[in-house]
Amino acid sequence: MRRFKVVITDSDYPSHEIEEEILSRVGADLVKFQCRTEDEVIECCSDADALLNQYAPITRKVIESLKRVRVIVRYGVGVDNVDVEAATERGIFVANVIYDITDVADHAVGLILSLVRKIPLANQNVKEGMWDWKGIQPISRLKGKTVGIIGFGRIGRKVAQRLRGFEVKLIAYDPYVPADLFAEHGVEKVDFETLIEEADIITIHTALTSETRHLIGERELRSMKRDAILINTSRGSVIDERALYKALKEGWISGAGLDVLEKEPPEKDNPLLKLDNVIVTPHMAWYSRESLDEIRRIAAEEVARVLSGQIPINLVNKDVLRRIGR
Ligand code: NAD
Repeated sequence: MRRFKVVITDSDYPSHEIEEEILSRVGADLVKFQCRTEDEVIECCSDADALLNQYAPITRKVIESLKRVRVIVRYGVGVDNVDVEAATERGIFVANVIYDITDVADHAVGLILSLVRKIPLANQNVKEGMWDWKGIQPISRLKGKTVGIIGFGRIGRKVAQRLRGFEVKLIAYDPYVPADLFAEHGVEKVDFETLIEEADIITIHTALTSETRHLIGERELRSMKRDAILINTSRGSVIDERALYKALKEGWISGAGLDVLEKEPPEKDNPLLKLDNVIVTPHMAWYSRESLDEIRRIAAEEVARVLSGQIPINLVNKDVLRRIGR
């Protein structure tokens, strides 16, 4: 009997034993690549039965080159690098991995506290021999500030839950979430302009879509408070990075905490990395020892499910079912 071929298009995980073990049970072999470009994915995946994908671009051109693929599983929540519509047209399942996103919410809160309390700067000063808090003035108290959450989905709500203990005022903008859900979480629902103008801290948790690409650009940055800080653990392209650089350099806002960038890894000369009022982490908000195992297990189980003739649990493109008559 022919064995299935499952291709990992790319991954920065240290090992794939969890996937290997789960996939071997359904007669599948795992082949690993580190594709970065569309052409590399095309070259590596044409005869695959299933794809496990982290960040490599799964464009329409890629999807049209796939001869046998039945399912594309994204290691994570966002599917912005996959052309879901093209996959649906070809009758291919697209699934994402819904794991415990507590770590992402913790990371966002960590970036907020790091910036508000200026912890990285203080740490750097001490290590350079400056045992003096006055060099890091001013610090403004977090309690009483307004935190604006853009995107009130799973992570946005978890962030709200965590921040309530800090005695801040919580406001949020998400046009797709029912109004009563905001109240349930002790959060005031506001429109986009109000959030931009009133928040002292803005934290972004929206999906990246054609509507949210560069949602935060020059106009929004100029409308924010001058001492506002901006946190992004969603996707880099939700912020227009060139505008953000200008805003931070020219003091339209006071700081930014970024786990995601428009280009990852960033170019060495990315000017944002030279600014003192920016903290950057390497797209790691998702990571904990627990989530690393959980993501790989859930992703491999989705592939195994499809190769055994079932439908993925976290099916992103539900329309595909009609297309394939299921
Ligand atoms: P989710 O789908 O539960 O929530 C996303 C929310 O964005 C939804 O409530 C949706 O209504 C909202 N949204 C969509 N369009 C919007 C718009 N135009 N304006 C405002 N809100 C809008 O997803 P989630 O699990 O909460 O993930 C949120 C983001 O975090 C995603 O972009 C995901 O890719 C990213 N993420 C990053 C990491 C990391 O390691 N940095 C880890 C997990 C998820």
